[in-house]
This record gives sequence, C-alpha cells and structure tokens, in this order.
Amino acid sequence: MSRVYNFSAGPAVLPEEVLKEAAAEMLDYNGTGMSVMEMSHRSKAFEEIITTAEQDLRDLMGIPDNYKVLFLQGGASQQFAMIPMNLMKNRVADYIITGQWAKKAAKEAEKYGKVNRIASSEDKTFSYIPDCSDLPVSEDADYVYICENNTIYGTKFKELPNTKGKTLVADVSSCFLSEPVDVTKYGIIYGGVQKNIGPAGVVIVIIREDLITEDVLPGTPAMLTYKTHADAESLYNTPPAYGIYICGKVFKWIKAQGGLEAMKKKNEKKAEVLYDFLDQSDLFKGTVEKKDRSLMNVPFVTGDADLDAKFVKEAKAAGLENLKGHRSVGGMRASIYNAMPYEGVVALVEFMKKFEEENR
Ligand SMILES: *Cc1c(COP(=O)(O)O)cnc(C)c1O
Repeated sequence: MSRVYNFSAGPAVLPEEVLKEAAAEMLDYNGTGMSVMEMSHRSKAFEEIITTAEQDLRDLMGIPDNYKVLFLQGGASQQFAMIPMNLMKNRVADYIITGQWAKKAAKEAEKYGKVNRIASSEDKTFSYIPDCSDLPVSEDADYVYICENNTIYGTKFKELPNTKGKTLVADVSSCFLSEPVDVTKYGIIYGGVQKNIGPAGVVIVIIREDLITEDVLPGTPAMLTYKTHADAESLYNTPPAYGIYICGKVFKWIKAQGGLEAMKKKNEKKAEVLYDFLDQSDLFKGTVEKKDRSLMNVPFVTGDADLDAKFVKEAKAAGLENLKGHRSVGGMRASIYNAMPYEGVVALVEFMKKFEEENR
C-alpha cells in the first residue's frame, strides 16, 4: 500500500489514524458484531456515536448552550436555500460576494426575497476580501451572509464584517475547525464536512436557538426546516450515520492534536512554508493579496498554461496529487487542510524548487 499526498480541495485528505481506526472497526464496531453502516440510527451504539460527536465538537469550538448543532444532508449547497427559507422573515438579506460559492448562495436566496450584494471582490477575480468595516447593511436585512474561506480563490476573512447588529451567517466549509472561532459572533455557522472534517454527505449547522422557529417561508418542506431537525436532535429521519461516525473520529483526532489553537499553529506553519517559497520564486506566483491569504487553499500560477499543465502532470507522477487549479482560476491549487501533514507541504515545495530549476 502506498498513499499519496492528496491536495484535493474536496473531498479531501483525512487523518490516516482515523482511516485506520475505521478500517479496524469495519466488521465489528465496539463489540456490536456489525459495522456502523449496518446499525439502526436508533440503536444505543449509534446514539452514543452522535451524542459524543456533538459533545466533542462543542468542546472544540466552545459552542454555547444557546446554539444547536445539527448534522444534516444535502451538502453545503442545500443550505443556500435552507437559510433564506428559515431566516427571511422580512424577505431581505445582504450578501458579501467573495467567490463562486457566495455568488451561488446569493442567487439561490433571490428565489425567496430581495438580495442586496453589499460588497464584492469580483472586479479582481475574487483575489481579495473587500473592506467590510462599514458596509451599507440594509435596515431590514434578516441576515448578512459571507463565505468565510473561499475554497476556489484562496482568500479568507481575517476579520468578520461589521454587520451593524444584523445576524451573521457564514459558510465555513473549507475552514471548519482550522482555527479557534468565537461562535457568539454568528447566527449560523455551517459547512459541508468533506473539505476539512469527514466524508461527503454530512453538513454541520451550528445555529443560535432564536433562529430556529416554525415561522418559515410558506411551502418550506419539513426536511428543510431547522426546527424539524433541532427538535429531533438530528434524528428526524435516517441521518448520514457512517459520515457522522467518521466526523466524530476526526473531532477526537483534533482534540488529541491539542484542539483548535494547536491546529491553527500547525496550519500556519504549513502555509508559511508554501507562501514563503511562492514569495521568493521566479517561476511560481501566488494569486491572492497577501493580507487575505487562506491557510487552507493556496492557488498559484506560473503564468504559462502549458507549463502549469506540465507541473500538474509531473507532480502527480511524484505522488503529489490533485494540484490542478479550479477551472475558473487556472494554474494550480494546493489545499492543505488539517489532515495534510507538514511533510506533505515540504514535499510539495521541494518538488516546486526542482521543477523551477529544470524549467528556467
Ligand atoms: C465545496 C463548497 C461548497 C459546496 O459544497 P457541497 O457540499 O458540494 O454542496 C460550498 N461552499 C464552500 C465554501 C465550499 O468549499
């Protein structure tokens, strides 16, 4: 068996320890004589899995008691609709457009009410985060929406926008658990787990209790109503049980690493190796304004599409996989999530150095 360094943006690398544990428990989970995939979601064993997962997530993020944690399905994209359906009491919301995911979310919300795009970085291919300290937040906005880490473009909000008292909703799919977070600043924090936490099929929604009501837009299905899932502790219907089990293992793994402070330090150290190299390279160049650089997704280019393609191909042959950039940016992108070891980033930089020497 040989594993590669997988720089995929998502689904993405998971901690090897977690995969090994899951493999060892595949046929017989904890003496039950069955796989977690085979057991009832109403069983004692699964109840323990989901309650432990929730508690570990609460511990890691310091989630206050007045927030619910929901394990849902439909991916991050389903939240693009679920958020307006549940929160748009005035049918008005403000969106900050920092990339394709925020754009898609805004477009979906437009089906349900008025969407004000109060800031955007589209003028420079989303290569920066706009100044959000004094935006024209709408008087009657039900919420202000951001995509906190822009997976495709490699930017991250280093400071949350001043929402002038309005509820902040954030898509954190690609920066979930990468650093400490003050949950109280948000109304909703949500993300698909397949970037930084677990297998595709689970989306975690952390939502302040006062936002969970029966007063949703007419026609909202039960499955798309937060209250349905909150009242049933994420067991209204069959949840993505195996995915939740893996998420739970990743939470334990992060705890063992020292929690989110330690995760942040490790992530900074990894990102620094790559950004420092990019900043002095004659061949490769980062595409993002330095102050807004993501710790998780690092896009870079040579400026020559053929050379980019050659790089991606040769990197793959060297065991460095999934470095091709998103089709809208081109070039390369290295996603260096929590589970990417430091050695993986060093191997990438060594390979880039060698490639640069060979292709002057
Ligand atoms: C990947 C991604 C999405 C889409 O996730 P799905 O689970 O495929 O719907 C949304 N937002 C961000 C920030 C992402 O990185």
